[in-house]
Amino acid sequence: MFFGDGGMEVRVLVTGGAGFIGSHLCVRLVQEGHTVYCLDNLCTGKVDNLNRIKDDPSFRFILADVCEEINLEVDAVAHLASPASPVDYGRLSVETMLANSLGTYRTLELARKKRARYLLASTSEVYGDPLVVPQKEGYFGNVNPVGPRACYDESKRFAEAMTSTYRRLYGLPTVIVRIFNTYGPHMRLEDGRVIPNFLRQAMEGKPLTVYGDGTQTRSFCYIDDMVEGIYRALFEEKAEGEVLNLGNEDEISVLELAHTVMEVVGKECEIAFRPLPQDDPRRRRPDIGKARRLLGWEPVTPLREGLRSTLPWFKEQLGLGPGQNISSERNP
Ligand code: NAD
Ligand code: UDP
Repeated sequence: MFFGDGGMEVRVLVTGGAGFIGSHLCVRLVQEGHTVYCLDNLCTGKVDNLNRIKDDPSFRFILADVCEEINLEVDAVAHLASPASPVDYGRLSVETMLANSLGTYRTLELARKKRARYLLASTSEVYGDPLVVPQKEGYFGNVNPVGPRACYDESKRFAEAMTSTYRRLYGLPTVIVRIFNTYGPHMRLEDGRVIPNFLRQAMEGKPLTVYGDGTQTRSFCYIDDMVEGIYRALFEEKAEGEVLNLGNEDEISVLELAHTVMEVVGKECEIAFRPLPQDDPRRRRPDIGKARRLLGWEPVTPLREGLRSTLPWFKEQLGLGPGQNISSERNP
């Protein structure tokens, strides 16, 4: 392990720690006995996501923008702060570019000054609309630099370039994880991503909105698997200096996903086809051979099981009891 024998307490800054993935990472770090500083401006995150650890003496929440200068005593930095859903980065496009450029600079500078281990949360979007399937880390991608997704894709590519530059220039111990589509509790119902949309629509008995003809694919990773991968990447010595894909290899079309969600929710709904957003990637599937080899990691949660574990969270968000669907309540 990177930090001694792995049993050592580490002070970790998690930016974006009130968001979906960040909040689970903070909980995991506190549970493992580390001290966690969670820095977030709450533009897409919620403090409620941190309820399980908010009173823990090892946890501190800092309401701040990652683009401001940061001064903290830390041993590791995990930079996750950035809007992540196409709807969020569509409305917060400049903020997204700043979080991934200036925010990456601020966090790298902190890591450099404190000689801290640095993890960048990058994305499968660096591959754009890939011409190669599955995507290996060595693939350079196919990204439109001026399209509607560019604020996210290109700023994450810039963040990767800056992280690699700090490693080359200053010998900073870095790891870049390219996260593929992830889902689970703490996602916002209204974040516009496909799983929250479909789960909500199915629970409400409304048509499921499939963009395009639904033949485009994604590979969905359950949050517990993703956090395990990020945690290992942060601590594993063999990951130092590496770029690692993290995601589930099971590729599924969006139309198949719609039917799977209906099956899990126990509702037959219509499918409403809607226009495909510009530059929507056709296929996405990670090659995770490198993460398997270096981290000894692979996802273990099948899609149906992950969706079943996610359902209670969305029911709670909709104010429903565990056995209820909203349509049976309001539209008998
Ligand atoms: P999220 O929107 O739930 O979380 C992002 C968090 O960052 C939020 O709490 C938000 O308030 C915070 N934030 C944004 N800009 C900030 C700023 N300037 N200063 C401080 N805090 C700021 O998104 P998520 O799905 O949890 O994604 C977390 C990270 O993982 C992001 O970097 C994202 O690019 C990456 N990622 C996620 C996925 C996925 O499927 N969820 C896929 C690929 C990459
Ligand atoms: N999508 C869809 N219906 C929705 C939301 C999304 O068909 O209500 C599609 C979207 O066009 C894309 C896929 O589902 O092809 C995944 O979209 P998401 O926004 O979850 O993530 P992305 O991988 O595009 O960042």
